[in-house]
Amino acid sequence: MALSAFPRHPLTFGPSPVHPLPRLTAHLGGASIWAKREDCNAGLAYGGNKTRKLEYIVPDALAQGADTLVSIGGYQSNHTRQVAAVAASLGLKAVLVQENWVDWHDCVNDRVGNIMLSRIMGAEVRLDPAGFGIGVKESWTRAIEDVKQRGGIPYAIPAGASDHRLGGLGFARWAYEVERQEHDLGVFFDTIVVCSVTGSTQAGMIAGFAALEEAGARPRRVIGIDASAKIAETRAQVTRIATATAALIGVPRPLRDDEITVLPAWSGDHYGIPVASTLDAIRLTGRLEGMIIDPVYEGKSMAALIDLVTSGDIPKNATVLYAHLGGQPALNAYSGLFPHTT
Ligand SMILES: *Cc1c(COP(=O)(O)O)cnc(C)c1O
Repeated sequence: MALSAFPRHPLTFGPSPVHPLPRLTAHLGGASIWAKREDCNAGLAYGGNKTRKLEYIVPDALAQGADTLVSIGGYQSNHTRQVAAVAASLGLKAVLVQENWVDWHDCVNDRVGNIMLSRIMGAEVRLDPAGFGIGVKESWTRAIEDVKQRGGIPYAIPAGASDHRLGGLGFARWAYEVERQEHDLGVFFDTIVVCSVTGSTQAGMIAGFAALEEAGARPRRVIGIDASAKIAETRAQVTRIATATAALIGVPRPLRDDEITVLPAWSGDHYGIPVASTLDAIRLTGRLEGMIIDPVYEGKSMAALIDLVTSGDIPKNATVLYAHLGGQPALNAYSGLFPHTT
């Protein structure tokens, strides 16, 4: 079945913006760096990559007659905030299990940023002390049961909208969108840099670009940057979802090893805890381009991009597309990293 045959409920403004980052490019001395901006892809609570994935999950939820979306993430989950926004916009309820995934002792961590936005949008927010993990959790199962007991019809969306049959489709479509934008702009992005944690963003891209390759497009590198500090799990999840998504959209061959690249060196030791290279990347991108990235995800993938270009692993003549996946609201829980200086 082709991607176009799957029902899609539009939640984004349309194609997300693609633009060059000239001052970052000049600073690094080449390659040529561009960004594609999922951080401003929608009017639903700042959007982000999960909003794009939800475009393919919402039709399934509506077809099942659900009245409550149930999902899970950390206290500062961007994903659950996007589920809350989508639920609000559809007139559905949202129940969000927010676990203590990050050992981050900012006293407003469970109050500001994403979690505050979810509360504003009317979601039922449940704080849970459980630690980091992207799998199925007991607290999540309980939330689903509670909705049923109240007479509601829950629809379960896993962490990051990833471990779901349709979770890879949003970013398979992103690949097609990139190809159309390249045509309009007269560029070809030979290298894509993308952050990976629950995996279906990168996995969807891999499947989409594999489908395009089968239709005659030039191959390109999709470089995933792990931000979970659990590289084996991230790689396994990306591989599994990419394989399933490629099959779902009719790619008639197995994926090659060289199509699945997830690099571990920029995550630090813990999900959600920035390291020096993360903070350097946040400051550099802010100062050179006025582009804001977060300490949990995009700061880590941007740190990787900077190092890979500087080391020549990404060559000077490359044209790189940095997938900005969103996530800025979480910055509010990290204000201690950016103190006043005189
Ligand atoms: C969820 C998220 C990611 C990681 O995407 P996955 O599909 O979970 O791998 C990266 N950046 C931001 C801002 C996110 O919210």
